[in-house]
Amino acid sequence: MKINVSNCPLCLDHNTQEYSRDKLRSYLICSNCELIFVPRDQLITQEQEKKRYDSHQNDKENSNYQNYLKKIINEILPSLEKEDTGLDFGCGITDLMGQLFKTKSFEVDSFDLYFFPEKNIWKKKYNFIILSEVIEHLRNPLSEMQGLRQILLARGQFFIKTKLHPNQKDSFDNWFYKRDNTHVQFFNLASLKKLATQLNMNDPEMIGEDLYRFTS
Ligand SMILES: [Zn+2]
Repeated sequence: MKINVSNCPLCLDHNTQEYSRDKLRSYLICSNCELIFVPRDQLITQEQEKKRYDSHQNDKENSNYQNYLKKIINEILPSLEKEDTGLDFGCGITDLMGQLFKTKSFEVDSFDLYFFPEKNIWKKKYNFIILSEVIEHLRNPLSEMQGLRQILLARGQFFIKTKLHPNQKDSFDNWFYKRDNTHVQFFNLASLKKLATQLNMNDPEMIGEDLYRFTS
């Protein structure tokens, strides 16, 4: 299939049409998987993207951020088994999630394209991989998720946190989540299910606030 900037970046279908538009960019919807996405010729550059992340205030001393991560960890813990090892993919400017998991006796590596570009992760295998507010940023979600699937052990799990799009055009037009120009695709339950199919995994199950568990 010819890859085109307006093809769906998740299922690669070319049946896509404009759904919404604002000052920044336009948004297409895929009729096959219901993903809403920014056409790939309208993405900001990686330099602009890094600048934007540098300004995020997610540092370790920020107690709101600590509490935010602790909540996610508590939502994930019941799905884990003793000795499971994990990866926090797209951790951002700190490896705090990994450190907090350590206090619960779990080893969790941290990776971030810009801040923790640890090459070793691709040689390892994990029982679980967390993408916390990451999947909406991926430039090539299908191939990147397939790459991560390769480093997941048998019966491994993904924990994906992202806000689902409202499935309603007026709400989407005013939705705060799309105003962040590093967010380049928005899922709903149908597109999360499509992702599971693409990865040969079971349908996702919601286990916390905006948090979905994918099992294999
Ligand atoms: Zn699609």
